[in-house]
Amino acid sequence: MFIKKEHTYFLKVVSISFLFLSLIAFFLLWIVSGGIEKINPELPFYIFLFFIALFFLFTIIFISSLFIKYNIKYNKKQVILLNFARLILIKFLYPLAFFITSIFRINREKMQNSFIEINNFLLFSTVKRVTHERMLILLPHCLQLHKCKAKITEDIHNCLSCGKCNIKDLTMLGDKKNIYIAVATGGTIARAVLEEKRPKIVIAVACERDLSSGILDSFPLPVFGLPNMRPNGPCRDTLVDVNVLTELIEKIVV
Ligand code: SF4
Repeated sequence: MFIKKEHTYFLKVVSISFLFLSLIAFFLLWIVSGGIEKINPELPFYIFLFFIALFFLFTIIFISSLFIKYNIKYNKKQVILLNFARLILIKFLYPLAFFITSIFRINREKMQNSFIEINNFLLFSTVKRVTHERMLILLPHCLQLHKCKAKITEDIHNCLSCGKCNIKDLTMLGDKKNIYIAVATGGTIARAVLEEKRPKIVIAVACERDLSSGILDSFPLPVFGLPNMRPNGPCRDTLVDVNVLTELIEKIVV
């Protein structure tokens, strides 16, 4: 069995969520029944709770089972199942994990990093490879050196190529591979770019928080996430590993 180390944190948080909700469900049963000995299992309410619990269990087992067959070509039916897994991951498990990190002070950033890894894994297994022109790279504005006055949000080619931040290398990468690169200052701009360019696949670079919300907002559009590095703190002179980004592009394009 192969489970990537980066995936396990999210699965741990989901397991805690499941345990927590099961306890809440049990507690509710206790309250409405006036004691454990009076619980009537025939009531639809209990059946409903049972199915909810079963659904949780199924989801966890299902998501976990995805990691048994890693890095193989899936057939059509398996792709449908994996797309279903991504739907559950994004619409159901992530909001649940997010909620639990608020209650138990679990490391949310680590959970989001793990969520992004799982999202990428599911996409690698399901999306069809595209040509460079159908791909779009979304970058955060904080990659630009904060003192730089070049208006790269209008057009990344306004970069003066001084090389003091990653934008120079990223511009060259986009030109070399013929991929459109947009620099977004926020979610609204990012959405507008996606609306205008209508890419088939997106690679987004940002912090874990923005990537997670971007993946959620853009669903079902395939968005691969690549977390940035923040040696100067959040939102200031951030970095991205251009080699990792190049490798990611190569894995996705035909
Ligand atoms: S490489 Fe230089 S000119 Fe280009 S965005 Fe960065 S700091 Fe500005």
